[in-house]
Amino acid sequence: MSTTFKIGKIFGIEIGVHWSWVFIFALITWSVAESVLTEFFPEWSSSQRWVVGVVVAIIFFASILLHELSHSLVAKAKGIPVNGITLFVFGGVSNLGREAQTAGEEFQIAIVGPLTSLAIGVAFAIAWATLRGAAPEVSAIAGYLALINGAIAAFNMLPGFPLDGGRVFRSIVWARNRNLLRATRIASRTGEYVAYGLMAAGAVQFFFNAVGGVWLFIIGLFLRNAATSSYEQMVLQATLSGLSARALARPGVAVAPDMPVEQLVSDLMLRGQGRCFPVISGQQLLGLITLTDVQRLEREQWPQTSVFQVMTPFEKLHTVAPEDEAMQVLQLMSEKDVNQVPVVDGRLFIGIVSRGDVMRLIQVRRAVATSDGQD
Ligand SMILES: [Zn+2]
Repeated sequence: MSTTFKIGKIFGIEIGVHWSWVFIFALITWSVAESVLTEFFPEWSSSQRWVVGVVVAIIFFASILLHELSHSLVAKAKGIPVNGITLFVFGGVSNLGREAQTAGEEFQIAIVGPLTSLAIGVAFAIAWATLRGAAPEVSAIAGYLALINGAIAAFNMLPGFPLDGGRVFRSIVWARNRNLLRATRIASRTGEYVAYGLMAAGAVQFFFNAVGGVWLFIIGLFLRNAATSSYEQMVLQATLSGLSARALARPGVAVAPDMPVEQLVSDLMLRGQGRCFPVISGQQLLGLITLTDVQRLEREQWPQTSVFQVMTPFEKLHTVAPEDEAMQVLQLMSEKDVNQVPVVDGRLFIGIVSRGDVMRLIQVRRAVATSDGQD
């Protein structure tokens, strides 16, 4: 089930909206209709206020979209593939095909977003100032949109990774120390401090404005999680870089399709040979047989049932190609919630990658990387 619905394409970039955006849309409409407009235009009817509220929410939506589009377009100009833009509760994300390769690239991709929001804010501020006499209603709404866009620019420029400002900060540190991993660590740590600052500010604000305080606290919490997880992701990526599925694959103990389940259990499983076995015939992978498959079968039937009859067939397996990157393999395992994936070239069996093996490898590689006193 997808939690994102696609609304179209701009410059060939797929635009998606996460369902959580519905809340933001409702929140903006409601706050404009019931607090902003009632304050400035108490004489307006309720339906007038709600219609204008919806219009303001749509313009807000377009402002966020422009912000994200600017990131994506600069990335595209740098030759980075853009998989799409998703708008969700805290704003948007541009889903880039890869990370920036130089500090300069990253700096430009990151800074253009807040600059775009700032430019939109300035445009609305000019509208606010020039229309004050002629059309006070339009002017008031323009003023509100100027403030919102200014706030988006300011918030995104907070120097905590993975906010835009944190990315700008990271690119500067990266340009100076030429070590992306260390720059990411410094920027993520700053991101955590910024997050704790927001949470503390939210706690204080709670006593004056409960909703605003809770909101700020939630944003802080979200930023803290994003800062730590994006750093872990980065470390994982660096640790596994250059490794392919083929390099991680182990041959495993293969079984023939006609082996009785009884024999599989007594000769292999009970002798500590593992709990998951590739079923192979002439180097072709037919399926995987695991302890879970065996447990589904009545014990009395073990002697007369072949592994072929109870295995998970090839068609139902998640497999990877030998040249797939280790990081992709790990992502597949966590997405599909499986502990091992077979590596196949077409149907030719190459080996099996298990989550435990990858985790042990990560530990060793990290220990080696940090043993030279770099960390
Ligand atoms: Zn941004």
